[in-house]
Amino acid sequence: MAASEFVGNEVLATLSAHAGQADAEGVWPEASWLALRRGGVLGWCVPREYGGQDRGPVEILEGYESLAGACLTTCFLLSQREAACRRLRDSGNEALCRELLPALARGERFATVGLSQLTTSRQHTSPALRVRLAGEILELDGTIPWVTGADRADHVVIGATLEDGRQVLAVLPRDTRGVSVGPPLELTALQGSVTAEVRCERVLLERRWLLAGPAERVVMTGRGGAGGLETSCLALGLTAAAVSYLFDEARVRPELFARAENLDKVRQGLRQTMHELAVAAATPEKATALRAGANSLVLRATQTALTASKGAGFVRSHPAQRWARQALFFLVWSCPRPAAEATLDSLAP
Ligand SMILES: Cc1cc2nc3c(=O)[nH]c(=O)nc-3n(C[C@H](O)[C@H](O)[C@H](O)COP(=O)(O)OP(=O)(O)OC[C@H]3O[C@@H](n4cnc5c(N)ncnc54)[C@H](O)[C@@H]3O)c2cc1C
Repeated sequence: MAASEFVGNEVLATLSAHAGQADAEGVWPEASWLALRRGGVLGWCVPREYGGQDRGPVEILEGYESLAGACLTTCFLLSQREAACRRLRDSGNEALCRELLPALARGERFATVGLSQLTTSRQHTSPALRVRLAGEILELDGTIPWVTGADRADHVVIGATLEDGRQVLAVLPRDTRGVSVGPPLELTALQGSVTAEVRCERVLLERRWLLAGPAERVVMTGRGGAGGLETSCLALGLTAAAVSYLFDEARVRPELFARAENLDKVRQGLRQTMHELAVAAATPEKATALRAGANSLVLRATQTALTASKGAGFVRSHPAQRWARQALFFLVWSCPRPAAEATLDSLAP
């Protein structure tokens, strides 16, 4: 439904075939990741000079949408890797780009992000991850509460806070002394994202790993911040899977057709907005409105699919129950305060 011309059918078929397992089991979805690698997906966002394909923003969003519809777990893992690649790519740290991006584009290495302690996690407590600058060395102490694919990562793009409140972004090689990865968290869905807490105990990092800062609200430097278009894009991809199921059912249950069509109309409208924002550089307000709309739609579409699939859809082997559980993820993932407020307004005005 949200077909992208450059995502091969084999890639989508492999992801679909393993989607139930990837959601339910706390292990890395090896076959699906290999399919991304073989299908060239890991080069999409990497510039050509570093061995990537340098795809345009709309093309990439279309690709993510297709992948999210096939397997949200794998696409979520990809999204965290893409976030790490974008931070590197846009950092201006040419030496690190040359060192890390080619192997990331080839899929020989995996990188992820641990940034939420600067944006949407632990904002009501003292900084979760602290950093001290001592000459050419950064000393890290504390917790990175959420790191997807942590155990598999060669590098984690992290954010930490100085005593004076300024922040830095840096690349943390996972095998650095003092870095430890907790066990995968038991999640409501997306278990194969192998998301874990990472602890840093007197971790010493050379300054060459620095990507940005020290600065106020460093995550907002370059392109980015929590709640970018990618999160909405994955929600729209999951919506497409549920709506496509409803259209299929409507072939023998015509009473479902109008409902599928109405949901699809909203989906297409949000998609159009997302593509416009991708080329025009989204303002935070517009990105928030899109996210709130995508959150509401993905909940409604997946719950409509579950309602239509009845008790059979509540059985673990049926995709409708998985889609409905996975839709809940968008209520909590990378949901900055304005987007969370807008979602709360629609749920509990
Ligand atoms: C499966 C999963 C994977 C993720 N992967 C990544 C990743 O790879 N990289 C990344 O950077 N982020 C990741 N995130 C983080 C995500 O983007 C959000 O930052 C995270 O969901 C925020 O939830 P939190 O519980 O940490 O929020 P917190 O705000 O820390 O809330 C925790 C608890 O604190 C209490 N609380 C909250 N606010 C207040 C307040 N104002 N006063 C008093 N008490 C309060 C509530 O009881 C709440 O349940 C992931 C999240 C999930 C769920």
